[in-house]
Amino acid sequence: MELGIAGKRALVCASSKGLGRGCASALAREGVHVVLNGRGAEALEACATEIRAVAKGEVSTVCADITSREGRAQALAACPEPDILINNAGGPPPGDFRDWGREEWLDALEANMLTPIELIKATVDGMAQRGFGRIVNITSSSVKAPIPTLGLSNGARSGLTGFVAGVARQVAASGVTINNLLPGAFDTDRLRSGMLFSAKRSERSFEELFEARRKDIPVRRYGDPNEFGALCAFLCGVQSGYITGQNILIDGGAYPGTL
Ligand code: NAP
Repeated sequence: MELGIAGKRALVCASSKGLGRGCASALAREGVHVVLNGRGAEALEACATEIRAVAKGEVSTVCADITSREGRAQALAACPEPDILINNAGGPPPGDFRDWGREEWLDALEANMLTPIELIKATVDGMAQRGFGRIVNITSSSVKAPIPTLGLSNGARSGLTGFVAGVARQVAASGVTINNLLPGAFDTDRLRSGMLFSAKRSERSFEELFEARRKDIPVRRYGDPNEFGALCAFLCGVQSGYITGQNILIDGGAYPGTL
C-alpha cells in the first residue's frame, strides 16, 4: 500500500534502538525525511547508517536527551516543522511503589507524560495550519492492563492518554490525527532488562522467565520492532485520516479482554 507520505518530515524521538527505531525505519522506507534521536551517539549514528541503506528520504540525527528542555529544543531545531511526530522515551524503572518518592514520580512524569505533551504543544498548531499532521505516542499495554512492577509507567502513561483523548478531538478538523500505540511484549533491550530485574528478584533464571513469558503470549512469540514500525507508518499515512484519539494495542493477543 502506498501511504502517500513520501517527502513529509518526521521527528522520531528515542529512535536509535527498539520500537522507536522500528518506526523510523518504516517511515524512512516510505520516503519520509526522518530525524532520529537518542542519547548515545554511537548507537544513534550506527542506526542512521543502517536506516540510510533502506531509506527513500533523508535521514539525520539529533543526539540529545528528549526528556530535557534543552534536548527538546535541539530536536525541534533539527526538525522545526514536522508533519509527523513520534513521541517516545525510555520507560521508567520497575520497582515497588513503596520505594518511590516525589523525585521518582517527577522523572516518570517528565519522560512519559510531560515530554510528549510539550512536543505536541510545540508542533500541533503548525501541522494544523499546513492541513496535515500525524502524531503517534508510544505508550504501553500497561495503560489497559497495569503491570504491578511498573507503577510509574502505569501512572504517567495514563496521564498522557487522558490528555491525548481531549486534544485529538480539538485538532481533528484540521487534518491532524493523534493516536497512541500500546506495545505488549517486544523483544528489545528494554524488555530484556526488565526481565533481568525480575529474574534477580525470583528463584528463576532470565532464560526461564523469557521462555515462560513467550508461552503466555497467544501468538507464542515476542513482537518484532519492525511490525510495530509498520503499524506506526500506517497510522502516519494518508489512509488513516479517519483514525484519531485511539489507543491501539499491538500485543500478539496478550490482552485478555473482549474490547
Ligand atoms: P529500548 O529498546 O531500550 O530503546 C529505547 C530507545 O530510546 C533507545 O534508542 C534509547 O537510546 C532511546 N532513549 C531512551 N531514553 C531516551 C531519552 N531520554 N532521550 C532520547 N532517547 C532516549 O526500548 P523499547 O523497548 O523500544 O521501548 C520504547 C518505549 O516503549 C519505552 O518507553 C518502553 O517502556 C515502552 N514499552 C516497551 C515495551 C516492549 O516490550 N519493548 C512494552 C511496553 C512499553 P539511548 O539510551 O542511547 O538514549
